[in-house]
Amino acid sequence: MSPSPAPMRILLTNDDGIDAPGLHALREIAAQLSDDVWVVAPETNQSGASHSLSMHEPLRLRRLDERAFAVRGTPTDSVIMGVRHILKDKLPDLVLSGVNRGANMAEDVTYSGTIAGAFEGTILGIRSIALSQAFGFSGGKTVRWQTALAHAPGLIRRLLATEWMPSCVMNVNFPDRDADDVEGTLVTVQGRRDPGLLQIEERHDTWGNPYYWLAFERRRSSAAEGTDLAAVYAGHISVTPLFLDLTYQAMREKVSRTLA
Ligand code: MN
Repeated sequence: MSPSPAPMRILLTNDDGIDAPGLHALREIAAQLSDDVWVVAPETNQSGASHSLSMHEPLRLRRLDERAFAVRGTPTDSVIMGVRHILKDKLPDLVLSGVNRGANMAEDVTYSGTIAGAFEGTILGIRSIALSQAFGFSGGKTVRWQTALAHAPGLIRRLLATEWMPSCVMNVNFPDRDADDVEGTLVTVQGRRDPGLLQIEERHDTWGNPYYWLAFERRRSSAAEGTDLAAVYAGHISVTPLFLDLTYQAMREKVSRTLA
């Protein structure tokens, strides 16, 4: 495949919302790749929205500047709004989603609005990359955006030089390390966290009625070698090529035999 003719048009989205620091970081990253960069991102934080569509509410569009728009909707709504409406006369060559505040690894892949934004780009026929910055394991509350800023432009260029197979989404996670302390880049498989990290926490309102929060226990899982988790824990950038086709081939064969 020949590289895209310059200037590459890039559409940015995220799930943390239009005002998120990670989106500002992503604009800086994209500015190093092209001067034709557009932002269409959710008005509010949509973390955990996964690949949802707003089907029972209108999509309100707010223009922030010539090339930046907020959508009252999900990351998926935003990418569709960008590709099918705002940029319909000259489609983007690349969709970047992120940079998410926190890693999107293992089963996060199924919850993540960040990754869903990239999946939507792929469904619309555009090469798409999800970018997330891990934080929290080393005790700090600050997110090391500088790590993603330093490493993402070069990594994205190298990924774009690869021949992309159809239905592929690249899931990139940056480790919770300073940019200079990153060990390198590993191509990984989707990992699996220890079970039981997600719990229901009960509280009581002023009337004594119970209400509930989802509670995430933030600790490291025992990660298998070669996974996204193991790579990021050890200070590597993780690149996991994901595939839109969720068919479980080995199981399909078993079920076919059973049902034959
Ligand atoms: Mn998020």
